[in-house]
Formats: sequence, C-alpha cells, structure tokens
Amino acid sequence: MLNALPKSVTVLGSTGSIGVSTLALIEELNALEPKYRIDVLCGGKNIELLAQQARKFRPGLTVIADTESWDAFQGLMEGSGLEIACGDAAVIEAAARPVDWVMAAIVGIAGLEPVWAASGTGATVALANKEALVCCGPALLARAKAAGGCILPVDSEHNAIFQVLDGTQKDMVNRLVLTASGGPFRGYSRDQLSRVTVEQALKHPNWSMGAKITIDSASLANKGLEFIEAAYLFDMPADQIDAVIHPQSVIHSMVEYKDGSSLAQMGPADMRVPISYCLNWPRRTAWQAPGFDLKTIGSLTFEAPDEDAFPMLRLAREALKAGGDMPVVFNAANEVCVAAFLQKRLAFTQIAENVEAAMMRAQLPSKAINDTSQDVGTILELDARIRALVGGFCDRSASSVPK
Ligand code: NAD
Ligand code: MG
Repeated sequence: MLNALPKSVTVLGSTGSIGVSTLALIEELNALEPKYRIDVLCGGKNIELLAQQARKFRPGLTVIADTESWDAFQGLMEGSGLEIACGDAAVIEAAARPVDWVMAAIVGIAGLEPVWAASGTGATVALANKEALVCCGPALLARAKAAGGCILPVDSEHNAIFQVLDGTQKDMVNRLVLTASGGPFRGYSRDQLSRVTVEQALKHPNWSMGAKITIDSASLANKGLEFIEAAYLFDMPADQIDAVIHPQSVIHSMVEYKDGSSLAQMGPADMRVPISYCLNWPRRTAWQAPGFDLKTIGSLTFEAPDEDAFPMLRLAREALKAGGDMPVVFNAANEVCVAAFLQKRLAFTQIAENVEAAMMRAQLPSKAINDTSQDVGTILELDARIRALVGGFCDRSASSVPK
C-alpha cells in the first residue's frame, strides 16, 4: 500500500455496470469517512457518463478509449482543469500508474493489456474482467505475485469460493461447486433456443449486468468462462469443479470438503457485495448492504445443467482440458458470436456451433494447463486469428437468422 489513507483507486471500465457499482460503493463509504481517492478513471465510449464521473471524483487522470469520441469528450471536460487522455495506449499507460487498488472491469479481451499492466505494479487488482483471466490466468496470477501485489476475484462465484476456501487445507477439498441461475432460457429445448430473440436474451432474471455477460449467462458461456476462471484462480483440476443450476441466485458458490462439509456463501444478488469484499481485503467492509432475509426468499432449489441444450459449459470444460491456449480460442470465438447475435446476424444456438467449430479448427501447439509462460502478444495474435475465422462463419450464417 502506498499510503495508509486515503487508499488510491483506479477504475478501468468505470462507465460499465461493475464500474458504476464500484464508484457508487466508494461514494457511499467516503460519505461516512473519506478513505478512498479516485486516481484514474477509464471508459470505452460513454463520454457523458465518464465526464460526469470525472467532474464528481476529480481523478488525476481520465481516459476515454474510443478515439472517435475524443473531440466531444474534450468539449465536455472544458474548464474542468482535469487531465484527460484518449486511445488504447493511454488506457494501458493509465492502468500502469501506481495505485493501491485497481478495479479491472473492462469487458472482453480489450481488458487484457490494461489488466496485464496493472498486475505488474504491485497493486491489489480486483478482477471482474474474467475474459483476461480465462486467456492468460496462470501468467497473470504469477505476474501479480512477483510484483508484490495480488489478484482478487470480483466475479460473485469466485468471490464466494474465495471467502469460504481454507487455503491451508486445499488438499481437503473435494470439489468447488459454481452456482448458476440458468438465465432466462432455463428449461428450453435446443429447438426452442434456436428461435429466441436478442430482447429475450437480454432479460436476465436476477442480475443487472452489461450486454455481453447477460448473453453469456443466457447461453451458459458465462458459467463456462467461470469454470476456467475457477481452475486458474484456485489451481484446481477440471474434474474437481462442478456447476449446479440454482435459479434464486442466493448461494453464490460452495466448497465441498472431503469430510462431508460444504461451505457456501450467500447474499443478495448485488455486485457491490463481492466488490466490497475485495475493497478492503483481508478485512470486511462495513456498509449499508441491501437486506437479505431467507424468510422472504422462501425456498432454494437446485438442478443439473442441461448440457445438450446448452453446450457452452461442456465446450469450456473441453477447452480447459485441452490445455495451452484453447481457452483463448473459446473466448475469442464466443466474443465474436455474441457481438453477431446482438447485431441479429446470428441465431442463439449458432453461438455454440461456431465456438465448437473454431475449437476444432484452431490447431494449437500443445502446452500444459498451468503454463505461466504465456505472453500477451501471442495471446492477442491467436485472438485475432480466431476472430477472423469466426467472423467468416458468422457472415456465412447471417441469412439463416430467425427474423
Ligand atoms: P459493461 O459492458 O457494462 O461495461 C464494460 C466497461 O468496459 C465499460 O466501461 C466500457 O466503456 C468499457 N470498455 C469496453 N470496451 C473497451 C475498450 N476497448 N477499452 C476500454 N474500455 C472499454 O460490462 P460489465 O457488466 O460491467 O462487465 C465488465 C466485466 O466484469 C466483464 O468482463 C464481465 O464478465 C465481468 N463481470 C460482470 C458482472 C456484472 O454483474 N456486471 C459480474 C461478474 C463479472
Ligand atoms: Mg459470475
């Protein structure tokens, strides 16, 4: 930590769902006692919200990634006296600024280079950007450790496991059990899924999140990404990680020990809960968390995921087991397909079909699952190659999309 008080903070992806929740929590906590100072804010395209955040928190640096928005952003920031910058390189540079705590909440592979930069500074990196971890987990974790910092999981499932996993008795763990809400299409057949619309897929039953992760939750790709994320974060083999559908999203995940005890973390479906756990780890944060009363929740139910109708979970497990950079292929193919689905150029079921085809065609050199020698340049080259391949699949299937 650089200073005892206040804690200096960077928020990457400040205009997104997680970024906004992080700033709301910090604002609430600072109103009680000014403990946190925002040093860096970075956003993608939403200049109005980023300018509003910058004027409120007065960070040392505010960066907008989208170069086309630069002129308009400069206009909005005129007279503020605040330092501003623009472009991907500026985001990476901003992420490398020395601070105590970084929220990494850029969505997708776009977050990889900023996370890589932040993890080399010795800061505590609260990681929401699961795609970065899926593509580069072992190397990222090793890099943060070598720099004297750490990576803490923001994703609610991993945060839950992090809270209940006794690191000194890892040999006593039988399984990590990730819970999944099942999304808006729980119980749908493959045939029904082939006709679902973007509007239906964007209606998540329990969580309010960005568009990409909402589609991933509907296809169970999110649980697939989280499966890989869990393997890397907790250094656990694929056959000791399981997923269970739990539609109420009350239990956020569990650790099953060999002595028969399963420890679960429960709480409201509100991302400020795991964010607050990361903010002052290893101490908990006292704040006005939303009420949580099992009497009003009533019952908790559980069921097995339907992997025939939702193949993304199986594909993620296969990508993890294949080792090396197959998770990069899974992630890149999924990102391209989700974007095409959101643009109504791809049917929902074609997401998994294209991801499977990309994994079959990828032809990767074999590498160990926990290879820490991955480098960002090679990952981004593979990502670009798979994006081109899957972009071609999406163009060819555009005509068969249900209207
Ligand atoms: P979002 O779409 O709401 O926000 C994404 C943020 O990234 C925005 O600030 C956007 O401007 C920024 N961004 C996008 N492209 C960028 C680029 N090229 N350069 C710089 N910034 C860019 O997404 P979200 O729901 O907040 O999710 C963020 C990350 O957190 C994702 O990786 C997601 O999987 C993960 N996550 C989110 C939740 C949730 O509840 N929202 C839960 C768990 C994990
Ligand atoms: Mg999650």
